[in-house]
Amino acid sequence: MESWTAPHVPALPGHGPALRLHDTATGEPRETVAPDAEGATMYVCGITPYDATHLGHAATMITFDLVHRYWLDQGLDVNYAQNVTDVDEPLFERAERDGTDWQVLGLRETALYREDMEALGVLPPRHYIGAVESVPSVGKAVAQLLAKGAAYRHDSGDVYYAVESEPGFGSESNYDRETMLRYARERGGDPDREGKRDPLDPVLWNAPRDGEPSWETEVGPGRPGWHIECTCIAIDYLGEQIDVQGGGSDLIYPHHEMSAAHAQSLTGKRPFANAYVHTGMIGLDGEKMSKSLGNLVFVSKLRAEGVDPAAVRLALLAQHYRSDRQWSAAVLAEAELRLGRWREAASRELAVPAGAVLTAVRERLADDLDTPGALSVIDAWAEETLSAGGEDPSAPALARDTIGGLLGIDCTR
Ligand code: ZN
Repeated sequence: MESWTAPHVPALPGHGPALRLHDTATGEPRETVAPDAEGATMYVCGITPYDATHLGHAATMITFDLVHRYWLDQGLDVNYAQNVTDVDEPLFERAERDGTDWQVLGLRETALYREDMEALGVLPPRHYIGAVESVPSVGKAVAQLLAKGAAYRHDSGDVYYAVESEPGFGSESNYDRETMLRYARERGGDPDREGKRDPLDPVLWNAPRDGEPSWETEVGPGRPGWHIECTCIAIDYLGEQIDVQGGGSDLIYPHHEMSAAHAQSLTGKRPFANAYVHTGMIGLDGEKMSKSLGNLVFVSKLRAEGVDPAAVRLALLAQHYRSDRQWSAAVLAEAELRLGRWREAASRELAVPAGAVLTAVRERLADDLDTPGALSVIDAWAEETLSAGGEDPSAPALARDTIGGLLGIDCTR
């Protein structure tokens, strides 16, 4: 699937320290790639395109864009894949509600997502893959899991994954069984369905149903389950083990636990990802932002209102990616002020030297993407330049490149 146009990424002198990210599985910071690595691989779960991109999606994609940018700054070859779940229940339900075709809906919302990502200065993944494109690969993988005894056919014809078959199952989330059951219920699983070996077993393959699309594959006709879609795309485009698996904290269980278990059953290699990295949720004015509460803030709507996407990005970077954050008019206003100060300082002919700013921003980012710390470093430089002036003619350009290259905030305007 086509992704979007990459923004210009300025090259910066030197390199920073190795990037360490908090790994959900071990609960500790981990170096994302081996010291002698030439490349890095990352898989980030993309959207299900039944609705427009909201600030929660934006916050997640901007977080992993910082990882992407930091690795590039390290001189690494970054192989990054992201999926679009362009065939799934939420799409069918929304299409039916709106009296539209699920494919038309999916294409329209995916196009809007691309525009939003481009406006937010997010670097495109190398592989942007739709679930529909992954169908043959999923069919083959499900057939393999059946042959290995890691999957079984339900009376309905659906194929389920047997969690009991995978020794590594549970080691990504580390949740107890009760928590797993609760999240399975809340997040699209079917623990109460009869005829399953274990209530936790997730669907790998949906047998054909009336009114739903179906494909002929190695495992028979039907369509993929959600978790195996990500497993197959990651293995096909990145390899059997990857450096970073990323997404929102609502994907810790069941989605990432299951994707990892599927991959481990298929390849026999554990763990599937070196680091499982999760972003906090975005709330609105003190409430959780959610589809059911109907209070989602859409990036496209903010853009239509004339909000500078760089200010949206900066607002989302003002707090740490792992924390649950609140969005409000005040948060945006503060980011707009900050962006104004940075741009004013960076457009001067002379400024305070910025070499130490580059070093400090790299150090802050390498420490589990400490963006509040990185932003304070730039704030201090901008304040000093605006109040005391400065005498370095190369500083404004270096500051612009640092802010643009590592944080993805365009200060050339
Ligand atoms: Zn996924």
